[in-house]
Amino acid sequence: MTFEIISVGTELLLGSILNTNAQYLSRALSELGFDVYYTTAVGDNSGRLRAALEAASKRADAVITTGGLGPTEDDLTKETIAEFCNLRCVMDEKSLRRIEERFSSGHMYMPKSNMKQAELPEGCIILENDNGTAPGAVVESGGKIFIMLPGPPSEMKPMFESKVKPYLRKFSSGVIRSKTVKVFGLGESAVDEMLGDLIKSSKNPSVAPYAKPGQVELRITAKADTDDKARAMIEPVYKKICEILGDKVYGTGIDNSLEKTAVEALIKRGLSVTCAESCTGGMVAQKITSVPGASECFLGGVVTYSNSEKMRLLGVRAETLERYGAVSEQTALEMSAGARAAAGADIAVSTTGIAGPGGGTDEKPVGLVYVSVCSESCHKAIKLNLTGGRDAVRERASLHALDLIRREAT
Ligand code: ATP
Repeated sequence: MTFEIISVGTELLLGSILNTNAQYLSRALSELGFDVYYTTAVGDNSGRLRAALEAASKRADAVITTGGLGPTEDDLTKETIAEFCNLRCVMDEKSLRRIEERFSSGHMYMPKSNMKQAELPEGCIILENDNGTAPGAVVESGGKIFIMLPGPPSEMKPMFESKVKPYLRKFSSGVIRSKTVKVFGLGESAVDEMLGDLIKSSKNPSVAPYAKPGQVELRITAKADTDDKARAMIEPVYKKICEILGDKVYGTGIDNSLEKTAVEALIKRGLSVTCAESCTGGMVAQKITSVPGASECFLGGVVTYSNSEKMRLLGVRAETLERYGAVSEQTALEMSAGARAAAGADIAVSTTGIAGPGGGTDEKPVGLVYVSVCSESCHKAIKLNLTGGRDAVRERASLHALDLIRREAT
């Protein structure tokens, strides 16, 4: 069964809001085993919405709209769909009572215009709205299905989950499940080369790489008739990927991140961490503290940008700075050791480098960064030659520091 999503709302076309409804529905429908071939955004205009409905209903078995169910003049979705299906909109007394009750329980005056929200296409399946005034509706007409959902995500999502999903199950011929594998330390082409046929000839499960800033995500997707079967199909492929990419794989899950993995590993092992940052200017600390619960492992960190601060706060020796420079392996090593001692942490990381655009030399070009880690059993620095602008260099340098933490903590 194929679907199309039509997001209604002029704000979407003005770029005032992001079309998160289309993203949410695309993902939810694919998890139910349905194919979504097109998504469209259209303004609050009956003629253009009708044109979008005509095109969508020619191509797909079902059309889901979001938005345009409100009480105002420019909320036209129900009326346009009803007209498109040659149906009248009729007052549904039960929906009207629900809307009135919603207003009276909030001690609010109900404007007359809200009555319009209870006028629904005749014969439709009504989707009650537990989080707002506008009911949704399903119209089955001419062999096609039209599902109308409200625009606010806080109303649309619960309505989809509790009302639309149960309705759609009877049409679902299977489920699609995905597992996202997070990889750090390899570029997309390197991952592609290493995995070879695992990506190229993969069908079900399919394996698709996505390049993210400084990282690669691999999505393994399986289609099967049950959830268990889909998961069972994914697991051997996941294991094979881990075998090939080894410790470059740092976790799974679409919402996972290097900082989350690092913080969780530290907490699990009861370890504390600190950081001394130069070129990343606090980005490592920012990323660590963005993870809820970071206070269980993060003691604090310092930004030591100048040589004098590197000496004063971290005990980096003047001789080291003079002989090797601030951007050097030796300085990075002394920074991490000094930070660890100063904070009394189990693990310390440091960053020092040339983020650009100026400041590079032949010997030390822009993008040269040293990242160091110091723990009880390990004290090392890695040299990175990063590409991209200032932001990209700083972002990647901080990711490398987090990667050193997660490796040290696991
Ligand atoms: P209401 O009953 O609140 O009037 P509605 O069904 O008429 O809802 P709209 O008026 O189109 O919906 O949108 C209401 C709000 O919902 C928007 O201001 C916006 O914040 C949010 N919204 C609408 N469409 C989307 C979308 N596609 N993605 C994310 N948010 C959206």
